[in-house]
Amino acid sequence: MSIHVRDISKSFGAFKALDRVSLDVPDGTLLALLGPSGSGKTTLLRIIAGLEHADEGVIVEDGEDITERHARQREVGFVFQHYALFRHMSVFENIAFGLRVRKVPTAEVRSRVEELLHLVRLEGLGGRKPAQLSGGQRQRVALARALAIRPKILLLDEPFGALDAKVRVELRQWLRRLHDEIGMTSVFVTHDQEEAFELADEVVVMNHGKIEQQGTPDAVFDQPATPFVMDFLGNVNVFHGRVENGRAFWHGIPIDYPDYPHAQARDARVYLRPHELEISPLSGNGQAVTGNGRASGSLPASVLRVTRNGAITRVACRPHGSDAELQVDVPTEVARGLQMDLVPGAHVAITPRKARVFLPGPEYVI
Ligand code: ADP
Ligand code: MG
Repeated sequence: MSIHVRDISKSFGAFKALDRVSLDVPDGTLLALLGPSGSGKTTLLRIIAGLEHADEGVIVEDGEDITERHARQREVGFVFQHYALFRHMSVFENIAFGLRVRKVPTAEVRSRVEELLHLVRLEGLGGRKPAQLSGGQRQRVALARALAIRPKILLLDEPFGALDAKVRVELRQWLRRLHDEIGMTSVFVTHDQEEAFELADEVVVMNHGKIEQQGTPDAVFDQPATPFVMDFLGNVNVFHGRVENGRAFWHGIPIDYPDYPHAQARDARVYLRPHELEISPLSGNGQAVTGNGRASGSLPASVLRVTRNGAITRVACRPHGSDAELQVDVPTEVARGLQMDLVPGAHVAITPRKARVFLPGPEYVI
């Protein structure tokens, strides 16, 4: 079942929660809606589910306009962040609920629930009450309940948000396998970029009720379409630079930027990811050992702090002649192999392997 969302807008009073949102979820895809709190993810998911009405726009499933169809007629399974299990009912009855409402014969309910208990690895726990389960087990019950009606579409709203980190990682890997086994189309809401990238075939980044970018995790990570996406996908160094004649300059280091071929210089912002910067010792005369200082694309800097975080060594430095701070992430093994001690005060050369340049948007134009 494919889903096409076309120009959906939704306001709550004067507040525009969704502003002409369009996206495509191809059949069999697991798509993640990723964005900060308040960006409109839940509202969009509820509109896809038929639990909320859009002011404008259409939802098309497999070529059919279902915008006006009620949630119950949409064959969607929905999993919320906070389990939303019926506390007074057993696990078995929670999972059976949708089947009972649909008047499925008792024998069929029994075999279907047993099958689902097996699928979510909760065999033998059908008689328990939700309070007698761990958080991870409860969320698996919620998932089994959503799957009971054999939905063509599974919608999950931060389903693992309330669980601790270890359980969350286990459950998302399990959800990915389950999605593939069942062959559903799923939309998964999260504000956690690691979760989105690990799980999803497609990622949609949302901000202020709009879509900033849709693409595969690799495409979104490697070619972030906007400064917001770049910022949101984890920690990044941001610097002011300028751009002219197809090149931007960061502390005098040229970076190709063919999108701006004009001679008139403009302010630009340069984004550098910590793991896309290399660090090497500076020779005694202040030049980079490999090449010819700044002209070769290296920036002399002093080390401020070094923190080891397992496999990654995080080095905070200050470029010479600047009061900016730059963060560099080096694999700890590489840091150990350097012909120098990475200690505060040490002089290093920083070489960007990759940098991204964004011109300020129209709001910055004077
Ligand atoms: P997200 O799930 O990305 O955190 P939501 O879709 O829940 O975002 O909310 C988007 C914005 O719309 C928020 O600012 C929220 O306060 C507002 N909003 C959501 N639902 C309602 C509602 N029923 N009434 C008024 N405002 C709402
Ligand atoms: Mg939400």
